[in-house]
Amino acid sequence: MRLVPKLIVRIGADIRLAMILLFAGLTVVSVIPFAIFRALQGDWVVAAVDTLMVLTMLGNAIFAWITGRTLLAGSINAVVVSTTCAVLPGALGVAGLFWAYTVLLANFMLAPRWLALACGLLIIVGGVLSTPFTSTMAATAYVVSAALVMLYALIFASLTEYQRQRLVGLATRDPLTGIANRRSMEVELADVLRTHQEQAQPAALAVVDLDHFKRINDLHGHDAGDRVLQAFTQLVEHCIRKRDRLFRFGGEEFVLLFPATDREGARAALDKVQRELRDNLVGPDGPVTVSIGAALLGPGDDWPAWLSRADQALYLAKRSGRDQVRFDEPRPLPGERRLQLVPNGG
Ligand code: GH3
Ligand code: MG
Ligand code: MG
Repeated sequence: MRLVPKLIVRIGADIRLAMILLFAGLTVVSVIPFAIFRALQGDWVVAAVDTLMVLTMLGNAIFAWITGRTLLAGSINAVVVSTTCAVLPGALGVAGLFWAYTVLLANFMLAPRWLALACGLLIIVGGVLSTPFTSTMAATAYVVSAALVMLYALIFASLTEYQRQRLVGLATRDPLTGIANRRSMEVELADVLRTHQEQAQPAALAVVDLDHFKRINDLHGHDAGDRVLQAFTQLVEHCIRKRDRLFRFGGEEFVLLFPATDREGARAALDKVQRELRDNLVGPDGPVTVSIGAALLGPGDDWPAWLSRADQALYLAKRSGRDQVRFDEPRPLPGERRLQLVPNGG
């Protein structure tokens, strides 16, 4: 991808990276003229501090771009610039204070809130100690105005973070059951596929479908069906490992993902899930059973192919009478005869 489209994609996906790049650019154009001016005046210390700040911002922007570690880069920026800001009035007098307001705000976009607060306190206390204020009134006005700017920035950053988390929740969770939705499943499957194929690690996936679910809706209403779906997710989440993942694929179909799990492990886990559901999943007319189709990650699989093999196994489980687990057969090597699908325990 060419640089500009790549830039747009990456800053669209990571607001902190956008801020780091923006501040680096703004620092270069706004601080370099001051550094040159100070150097021409023979004020070498301030010129050196300005140059150091520009180099830090630029270096961090490059570091963040290459490594993607934007939280670290943003935090370093906040600490370096805030420390400079705290001592600057000692060299520039009251004129050095004006930068404090910009940095107090910017810190909340670059660093975690606790660090932005700590840096803000450093700026305010440093400003009071290093500025040659002419009156106590002037010093008090500085402290109050800077503290208010920091408070507004904190409120704004907290609201933004809260709304961001709500949006992420809405985009990735199923509202009925609260579990991850199909969108997160696609992202996580692609992730597992990449890491497990790179490290030649096994992984298993299962499609779980409630049997004759439509009857519950038809005979007892949609709400009764909803309650069964909620009970189902609670029971399954209760009996799988922490690293295993349950997604709502759609309707009364769910996907279970078992990272770092071979065929025997997946079979044991699915038998456990099925036992748990057999014993505890009840609808208005009695026990509700499930059919499960499972597939091991094969070499060269992409996630739709992997899912489709599990789906084919599910189809066979349904066709063979429901209430059972079916595994997709291991993929034949080139030239090898294709094996028959094996039922549970085969
Ligand atoms: P099978 O054993 O072959 O899977 O039969 P089934 O009745 O479970 O399958 P079918 O695909 O015929 O019906 C699925 C039903 O699930 C139809 C649809 O109305 C219902 N459904 C889908 N989403 C929801 C939901 O969020 N809540 C409720 N209550 N029902 C849902
Ligand atoms: Mg069904
Ligand atoms: Mg279905």
